Amino acid sequence: MSDKYQDFSRSPIGKFLVKNLGLPSPMKLERYTEGAPLVDGTVLVGGTGRLVESLPGLLDTLGITSATVKPEEGKVKGLVFDATGLTSSAELAALREFFTPVMRSLAPCARVVVLGTPPELVSGSEKVAQRALEGFTRSLGKEIGRGSTVQLAYVAEGAEAGVTSTLGFLLSPKSAYVSGQVVRIGAQSTKADVPVADVFRPLEGKIALVTGASRGIGEEVARVLARDGATIVGVDVPQAASELQSLMKELDGDWLTLDITGKDAPQRIAHHLKEKHGGVDVVVHNAGITRDKKLANMDDARWDSVMAVNLTAPELITRELLDRGVVNDNGSIIGVASIAGIAGNVGQTNYAASKAGVIGFVDSLADDLASAGKGITINAVAPGFIITAMTAAVPFATREVGQRLNAMSQGGLPVDVAETIAWYANPASSLVNGNVVRVCGQMMLGA
Ligand code: NAD
Repeated sequence: MSDKYQDFSRSPIGKFLVKNLGLPSPMKLERYTEGAPLVDGTVLVGGTGRLVESLPGLLDTLGITSATVKPEEGKVKGLVFDATGLTSSAELAALREFFTPVMRSLAPCARVVVLGTPPELVSGSEKVAQRALEGFTRSLGKEIGRGSTVQLAYVAEGAEAGVTSTLGFLLSPKSAYVSGQVVRIGAQSTKADVPVADVFRPLEGKIALVTGASRGIGEEVARVLARDGATIVGVDVPQAASELQSLMKELDGDWLTLDITGKDAPQRIAHHLKEKHGGVDVVVHNAGITRDKKLANMDDARWDSVMAVNLTAPELITRELLDRGVVNDNGSIIGVASIAGIAGNVGQTNYAASKAGVIGFVDSLADDLASAGKGITINAVAPGFIITAMTAAVPFATREVGQRLNAMSQGGLPVDVAETIAWYANPASSLVNGNVVRVCGQMMLGA
C-alpha cells in the first residue's frame, strides 16, 4: 500500500504542478533502520533547569552526540531545551532567545524536544509558565516543516532518571510521524528505580503479546518488538491463522488463534502465557474493527461488535492477566485508541466511543498500577491516518483529506505506530505511565 499522491508529487511533472498550484508537498520522512545510530548528527542542548547539566551525559549513553554551543558550520539534527527552570511568564522569552537563532540551521527531519515540569504538580506563576510550553511546542510543530517534529516532555521532579528512553525515541527517526505531542514522565508513577535497558535490544528475554498480529499495524508491532529482542505471542482470529503462523514462524514467535471476544478468550490467553512462557512483559491490545454507519442507521450488530473487539475485550483480558499475576513486574500494557476517539468522526459513533473508551481505560488503570508499585505501566497510542488495509477501504476523497490534513501532508505507516509502542514497551520507560500519544503527523483535527 502506498501514497499515490506522494509518489506523483516527487515525479518531474508532479513537482512542477505542486510548485505552481501551491499543492501540499509531502517530504519523504526519515525512518529508523535496524542497527543505525539513533541520531545522524549533532543535538544542540540549552535552557535552564533540573535537567540541562545531565543532558550531554545522558545523550552520550544513547550514542547521541551533543553540543551546548551552535556549531559554526553545518546543520543541527536536534534541539533539546530544558524549560524546567522557567518559573514566570517573563522568563518564557528564553524560548525565543534559544530557538530563533537556530531555526534556520536545522537539518531536514530534525527533532525538537522541550522538557518541562507537569503544570499540575506546581503552582502560581510557575504553573502558568509551564502550561505555556504546550502552545509553544504545538505551534512550532505546525510551522517547522521539512519532516521535522516538535514535542514537549513534562518530567516530574524526581523522575529525571526516567527521561532517557523517551529522548531516545523522540530524537530518533523512530518518531517520524509523531509531532506536537505532550508526554508526561513520572507524573503518575511511584516506582523511582528505572531499569537501564540496552539501546538496541531493550526487550531481550521479554515476552510480548500482540493481538491482531497477522497484518497491518499489528504485524509491524510484532516485527518491531521482535527486532528489539522480544519473543512475540501473536493472536488473531482463526480466519487469519495461516498469515499469523507464517509471520510468527518468521519471527521465532508463538501464536494463539482465537477471537478475543470469545467468552473464554481472557482465560485461554492468560493460561497460555503463564504455562508456556511463565508470564508476559508487554501486552499490546491492537486488534480492532470498524463498522461505520451514521447513528440513525446503526444496528445492534455494528454497535456491539465494535464495542466488544475494541474496548470490552482489552478490558477483560487485562483484568484477567493482572488478577492472575501474569503480567511481570516492570511490564507494560498498551492500548490502541484512535484520533477518531479524540476528535470524533462522521459515521463512527460506535468506533469513536470504543476508542475514547480505550483512553478512559488508560486513565482508570494508570493510577492503580502506579500505586501497586510493581513498575507496570499502561499507555495508549492514538493513530491518525495510517496506510493499511483498514484505511484502503475508506472512499478516495475522504482518504485524500485524511492523509493531507496534518503537518506532514501525508499518511503514516504502520511502523510509526509500532515504534511508539516499542518506546512504551521499553523497560527503561517505566516512569512513562498514563499517556496517550497521537501518531498522526500532528493532524489538524482534534486536540
Ligand atoms: P487491520 O484491519 O489491518 O488489522 C486488524 C487485525 O485485528 C486483523 O488481523 C484482524 O483479523 C484482527 N482482529 C479483528 N477482530 C479480531 C478479534 N475479534 N479477535 C482477534 N483478532 C481480531 O487494522 P489496522 O489498520 O492494522 O488497525 C490496527 C489497530 O489500529 C486497530 O485497533 C485500529 O482501530 C487502530 N487504528 C488504525 C488506524 C489506521 O489508520 N489504520 C487509525 C487509528 C486506529
